[in-house]
Amino acid sequence: MNDREALVSELVGDRADTWDLTGLIPAEPLRKLGEAGLLCGELPEQYGGLGLSSLDNGRFTAHVGSLCSSLRSVMTSQGMAAWTIQRLGSAQQRADHLPRLTSGTLAAVGFSEPGAGSDLSAISTEIRPDGDDVVVDGRKVWVTAAHYAHLLVIFGRYGDGAAAVLVPADAPGVTVERVADPMGCRAAGHAGIRLDSVRLPRGHVLGGAGAALTMLVTAALSYGRMSVAWGCVGILRACLAAASRHAKSREQFGRPLAQHQLIGGHLADLLVAEQTATRVCEHASHRWDEGSPDMVTAAVLAKHVGATQAAAAAATAVQVLASAGASDGHVVARAYRDAKLMEIIEGSNELCRLMLAQHALSVSG
Ligand code: FAD
Repeated sequence: MNDREALVSELVGDRADTWDLTGLIPAEPLRKLGEAGLLCGELPEQYGGLGLSSLDNGRFTAHVGSLCSSLRSVMTSQGMAAWTIQRLGSAQQRADHLPRLTSGTLAAVGFSEPGAGSDLSAISTEIRPDGDDVVVDGRKVWVTAAHYAHLLVIFGRYGDGAAAVLVPADAPGVTVERVADPMGCRAAGHAGIRLDSVRLPRGHVLGGAGAALTMLVTAALSYGRMSVAWGCVGILRACLAAASRHAKSREQFGRPLAQHQLIGGHLADLLVAEQTATRVCEHASHRWDEGSPDMVTAAVLAKHVGATQAAAAAATAVQVLASAGASDGHVVARAYRDAKLMEIIEGSNELCRLMLAQHALSVSG
């Protein structure tokens, strides 16, 4: 275990289940991880970041995901915000905002709206120039980490195209309201955001304003997919470890569960799932680190494999533990709820399959 992993292991300890049950990560671990730059580890050192490769950050993300998917979700949002500012921001915007993300400021990213889920072209939030300012009006839903965030990266319509704007969470006209009782990742701080005539200096609009929405969101979503995919590797590792431990120690019919072949089959399935997701994530991170043209597709593939394997494996792990894992405070019960949500976010299973189908058609000539 490296120093980063040791720090997060110490900060989470055995508290992930309590955070999940209470729906809250305390301020202290978030502050410590934020100030250490660990919530967005790929940011370059010039902005106070760690300058990790996608592969190293991915491995760290898997470690966090194996401990607590809520914390990993907060990390995904922070990384997505940082990546968006890095990709779209001017030199001045990067210099102004990125060092804040490595010194304790928490951020969240809002795309989704009541009428715009899978189909982001239906976004209706408006970012309207008004003299030296812009005025933002709209509503975002299910924004991960918004409850904790000081800074919101909001995507909206801008003239004939789209833009991303940096909105301080305490700006007049911003209301953040938590999602009540989310099914999983319960401490990830999901919230809806209302933006009522929020007036901001024009300098808060990131570069690329007026471009097509898909161009602007692809960078953020690709980062998010990589992070979720590696987080799913963590869920898989937690499930494999819990199921193996239980199968060795629990006896039925006079021998450990592990010696019953059908349970051995479940353990094999868990190992295959964990190894498959790990290899696909490693492939995607290598593509990302090389800046390869197929990194976007590799991220979709990693996210799809990770999420589907984690959701199936978490169900398998609950099956192996049976009643021992069937209450909310258990790691496999938490994994079961958390993993299901991974099949919905950053491109649902269906949307990922549609994108992969398009890729299949393009490579088949
Ligand atoms: P819908 O778009 O209504 O889809 C419903 C179902 O129809 C899904 O199964 C979908 O796959 C399927 N479907 C839709 N269109 C098609 C199609 N063309 N072909 C086939 N099937 C289709 N949003 C943010 O902006 N920021 C966040 O940080 C964020 N975090 C989230 C965290 C969690 C835990 C959850 C649950 C959601 C989060 N979201 C966030 C919102 C998330 O991005 C959306 O839930 C997701 O895009 C799906 O949109 P929807 O829920 O409106 O479902």
